[in-house]
Amino acid sequence: THQQALNQILEQHGIQVTPEGIEPLVRYSMACPALPTCGLAVTESERALPGMVERIRLLLDKLGLEKEYFVIRMTGCPNGCARPYMAELGFVGSAPKAYQVWLGASPDQTRLSRAYVQKMPESELESFFEPIFVQFREERKPEESFGDFCDRIGFDALREFSANYELGSGVVNPDAKLASKKSSAKKSSTAKNRRRISIPEEVHARLKEAAANQGKSMTELAAEALEAYLS
Ligand code: SF4
Repeated sequence: THQQALNQILEQHGIQVTPEGIEPLVRYSMACPALPTCGLAVTESERALPGMVERIRLLLDKLGLEKEYFVIRMTGCPNGCARPYMAELGFVGSAPKAYQVWLGASPDQTRLSRAYVQKMPESELESFFEPIFVQFREERKPEESFGDFCDRIGFDALREFSANYELGSGVVNPDAKLASKKSSAKKSSTAKNRRRISIPEEVHARLKEAAANQGKSMTELAAEALEAYLS
């Protein structure tokens, strides 16, 4: 079908076509354009969010929260065009390279967050969130979401725990790696090991049709077929 053919082209160019295949922190995140297109922006948003989300993913992995995800939104100023006040974790630009942090919204956006700090430097993301995520890991109720947890225990309890927390003491998986590093290593080894072969035009046409029918790339299907034949 046309949809399968389109999906195949998108996949061949590295675009994830199934929502389940997208890292959930990324899938549920949203940012406003901010710099350089919005004249009201105080700081970066759309261009900063992917890196910040990746750093949050890495931090969660290091703290043994590999399966955890929540709604993150970011804007470059308090106008809030990406509705950060409804996110379980909202970043609102308050100075160059610094953000208000909003916590406590419900995962389905039926309860608003509240401002937890006015100015968190982007460079302090990890040291700022490590105690909060450790406390979440230690004191959450079963299946409780991050936003519900922050709302239930309250900001005073969060602040007290952070003030008494020793950085690094809650890390359980220090060797966790950034997803982009893992995938770039995978990509380069795939590219390095890839070889070209020529096939007749008619076989190419049949391979193309079969790949489209199965929703796979031609490379993938050809590799599978050759492996099955040669084994
Ligand atoms: S939230 Fe602020 S920076 Fe972002 S698009 Fe709206 S006005 Fe611009």
